[in-house]
Amino acid sequence: MSYDPSNIFARILRGEIPCKKVFESEHVLAFHDIGPKAPHHILVIPKGAYVSAQDFGEKASAAETQEFFQAIAKISADIGIAAGGYRLISNAGENANQEVPHFHMHILGGAPLGPMIC
Ligand code: 5GP
Repeated sequence: MSYDPSNIFARILRGEIPCKKVFESEHVLAFHDIGPKAPHHILVIPKGAYVSAQDFGEKASAAETQEFFQAIAKISADIGIAAGGYRLISNAGENANQEVPHFHMHILGGAPLGPMIC
C-alpha cells in the first residue's frame, strides 16, 4: 500500500487540522486521541510517511525507531501512567481495522484496562 498524503494524521502534521499535542521532537509527534478509550489515550506518530507498523519496521531508520520508543516512555512517565502500567496498540492493515493509514501507536492507561481482547 502506498502512502496517502491526504490521511488525517498527515494533515495534522502539516498543521491543517488541530490536535491536542502532548509531545514533539525531530521525528515524532504525539497528541490526544479524539475518541479516548481510556482515561489517558495518546496517539504517537512518526513524522515520516509510513503507512503502518509493518512499513515503519521495514523502512524507518535506527534514529527514527529509537526516538519513537523513547517518546512513548517519556510521554508515559510525564503523564503519570508509567508506574501503574499502560497498553500499547498498533493496528496494522485491513484485518486489524486500521482506520488511519499513517503509522501510529496508541498509549492507553490511567485505569485498570482488563485483559486484552484478541
Ligand atoms: P486506528 O484504528 O487507525 O488504529 O485508530 C485511529 C485513531 O485515530 C482512532 O482511535 C480515532 O479516534 C483517532 N482519530 C481519528 N481522527 C482523528 C482526529 O482527527 N484527531 C485525533 N486526535 N484523533 C483522531
